[in-house]
Amino acid sequence: TVRVRYAPSPTGHLHIGGVRTALFNYLFAKRHGGDFILRVEDTDLDRNVPGAEQETMEGFRWLGLSWQEGPDIGGPHAPYRCTERLSLYEEALQKLLNTGAAYPCFCTEEELAAEREQAAAVGQMPRYSGKCRGLSAERQQELIAQGRKPSYRLAVPQGIQLSFDDHIRGHVEFLSDDLGDFVIYKSNGMPTYNFQVVIDDAAMQITHVIRGEEHLSNTPRQLLVYRALQLTPPVFAHLPQVLNTDRKKLSKRDPNVQPVDAYRYEGYLPAAIVNFLALLGWSPGGEEEILSLQSLEEKFSLERVNRSGAVFDVDKLRWMAAQYIKASSREELLPLVEKQLHEKHWPLPQGKDLDWLWAVVELVREGAASARQVIEAAAGFFQTSVDYPESIRMALQETTAKQVVERFAEKFAEIPCWTPEVGKEALKTLSKELSLKGKPLFMPIRMAVTGSEHGPDLQQTLTLLPREWVLQRLAAASQ
Ligand code: GLU
Repeated sequence: TVRVRYAPSPTGHLHIGGVRTALFNYLFAKRHGGDFILRVEDTDLDRNVPGAEQETMEGFRWLGLSWQEGPDIGGPHAPYRCTERLSLYEEALQKLLNTGAAYPCFCTEEELAAEREQAAAVGQMPRYSGKCRGLSAERQQELIAQGRKPSYRLAVPQGIQLSFDDHIRGHVEFLSDDLGDFVIYKSNGMPTYNFQVVIDDAAMQITHVIRGEEHLSNTPRQLLVYRALQLTPPVFAHLPQVLNTDRKKLSKRDPNVQPVDAYRYEGYLPAAIVNFLALLGWSPGGEEEILSLQSLEEKFSLERVNRSGAVFDVDKLRWMAAQYIKASSREELLPLVEKQLHEKHWPLPQGKDLDWLWAVVELVREGAASARQVIEAAAGFFQTSVDYPESIRMALQETTAKQVVERFAEKFAEIPCWTPEVGKEALKTLSKELSLKGKPLFMPIRMAVTGSEHGPDLQQTLTLLPREWVLQRLAAASQ
């Protein structure tokens, strides 16, 4: 059976790139009836951030991505947190030390830095000279007895062609000579990523390693570890980079890119984020772009993942999110809207209930990408008065406009229960009385009541707004 994993290092927020990687793994597992495993790679102690693991899991739960094995639920290969698996790595290290496939290295940071500088000065790729490879067993014991804490390096055989068939990129080759003896265990007693990941992927019987392209250059090192430990490597599939609209690698600091949490707090619908991310580097073929998680699970294949970079287009994300908001049900959207109102401290106007709120949402939601954007578009329904921008204040001072607003206010006051039908009749009458129609008639009313030239249907707006507020605004507008 197919077994894939998402293996985050808990070093910060859950970002779009990480979710995309996780999603592709998840979809691949679903498509093949396999297992999706969550493994927390936390051996780089200095970089661990408290709460990052929790944030990742909460983010996935929100998006509807579930895992079959993981640090929270355990599984047949538990534990799923690497710092709890140290004995496995130690055992593997010992094996390699016994056969001479790995050796302790006593070089200090300063010595290594000097080596790197020397290499750079003559224009060579910096790689470890292999200085400690030849140390005798006695010398090693001596240094350890002195209290020196070694790191451990893999003795990389020279002249080996390291090749593999990447499921996305095709045949890839590296020469072992370019790698140098790399560190597999640090002097602080922690394995390096390139060592740990091999032991865990093998132990957890991972069949496909699907991960970001930034790891492509790690793969030959990992292949050497598989070789040294006589383990069979999985299939590798390196996903194209996520690029910004300038086709540069997308940075976590790009202002257009939010951690996943931020989208949740803003009231995006999770299905929209999933849909958008699935199309970052993959497409089902055909024109269809709005795809539910379920249909993605049915359609996904690595064969249709692009090799070239995937552009993160924030306008496309907003467009797609707006499609989901527009199509969402009351059960889905209303709780998110209520949450946003709560955060803004915008109570429902007196006497208005959730049916009223939903009617407002339906009136204004076109084009809004999130629940927050919905309520921002509906701000006038939650605040008694409106602020008139200078241009609108001036337009409302104009004689005809003033007259329209005053006469309309009289009509509105006469009608105790405004509806779009009643309103239409009232405006017809007013139109005749003032010999005005179209924009000169409607615009002053809209501006007076909403403070804006644009907005949703005027009659609906007048119907849904608290009656007192409409009267107050009409009165205030011509002051
Ligand atoms: N911990 C690595 C990362 O967060 C995992 C890479 C891999 O999937 O092998 O980038």
